[in-house]
Amino acid sequence: MIPYGRQDIVEADIEAVTNVLRSDYLTQGPLVPLFERKVAEKVGALHGVAVNSATSALHIACMALDLGEGDVLWTTPNTFVASANCGIYCGAEVDFVDIDARTYNISATALRNRLEEASAVNKLPTVVVAVHFAGQPCDMEAIGQLSLEYGFKIIEDASHAIGGKYRGEYIGCGRYSDVTVFSFHPVKIITTAEGGMAVTNDRSIAERMKLARSHGVTRSDTLMENASSEPWYYEQVDLGFNYRMTELQAALGVSQLNRLDEYVQRRHVLAEHYDSLLEGLTVVTPYRESDGYSGFHLYPVRIQGAKDRRAVFDSLRARGIGVNVHYIPVHTQPYYQHMGFKWGQFPEAESYYEEAISLPLYPGMEEEDVLLVTKALKESL
Ligand SMILES: *Cc1c(COP(=O)(O)O)cnc(C)c1O
Repeated sequence: MIPYGRQDIVEADIEAVTNVLRSDYLTQGPLVPLFERKVAEKVGALHGVAVNSATSALHIACMALDLGEGDVLWTTPNTFVASANCGIYCGAEVDFVDIDARTYNISATALRNRLEEASAVNKLPTVVVAVHFAGQPCDMEAIGQLSLEYGFKIIEDASHAIGGKYRGEYIGCGRYSDVTVFSFHPVKIITTAEGGMAVTNDRSIAERMKLARSHGVTRSDTLMENASSEPWYYEQVDLGFNYRMTELQAALGVSQLNRLDEYVQRRHVLAEHYDSLLEGLTVVTPYRESDGYSGFHLYPVRIQGAKDRRAVFDSLRARGIGVNVHYIPVHTQPYYQHMGFKWGQFPEAESYYEEAISLPLYPGMEEEDVLLVTKALKESL
């Protein structure tokens, strides 16, 4: 079976993790802050806050941006549920904006239209979560411009996109957003097993995210309400969680980060190989915006021939190809349907979903594997 994604672990990664096991600190040691500095430096952000998942990173980002009851968070329906759930965690309402038919990312045109409508009824979003689907950057300049016009904050969910670029700058540099979130789940671009990070250029947002990840507890003089000289003294100044990353995870992350550019380059090579082998078939290959450099977490195709997606999917699986589907539109999940969302509300995301198959793509894949997958796809169509 060729899986749709998998981690790449080398000896140096294993050594980095086992070194931690022999050291004094399994958690709250020096490697988490080192990993934070390295990721922030790599992507061109000032601050990094490492956590136990991207889901936690989205949550603390929303908390730090003051999202709460009475507020509204907007995101794309073509994403993993976590991009929307973070709004619900904060007591906010969640709504969706349909996708662009070519990039499958949130459509800046649809966003503008929805903002005009929302402005007329005084229901503007507080936060918009822009998801770089499959690694392809969203139209950040347009979304950034709209945030200035309508006064919302932007979180980039870059779970698919670390190592990708927008207009020559790494995703995460924060030129058009307040916070960017990365996932280090094993199928993503680099891994810490479970893990995530939020990066920002705003010091006070970073401080609030650090509080939220660790119980709302601080030992920092500037954050405590009462000064104390007692060496054991700490204060809980807010309600937080235990979302901390361990030293084992951070060690793996630091080691993996050394190969980030290599991984993304390899994903591009394999994607281009797919592009050329799939030419002439009744499938739509991923569109690339000229000002973006995708992280290529996924290689999604749309099946548009006589065979329907289900038949092609089953046939590929039967041939040992571990294809997958990204994503069931979030608003069609029972949890969101119970809130009142309906099929038909976001037609581009729904029609994309009906045709979508993600082909295997991971750095350890060989050109031969790409050939095997495309052969199997040809037979299945
Ligand atoms: C994987 C993923 C997440 C959640 O990441 P975890 O690290 O597993 O919590 C959030 N958003 C998107 C778009 C993802 O793909």
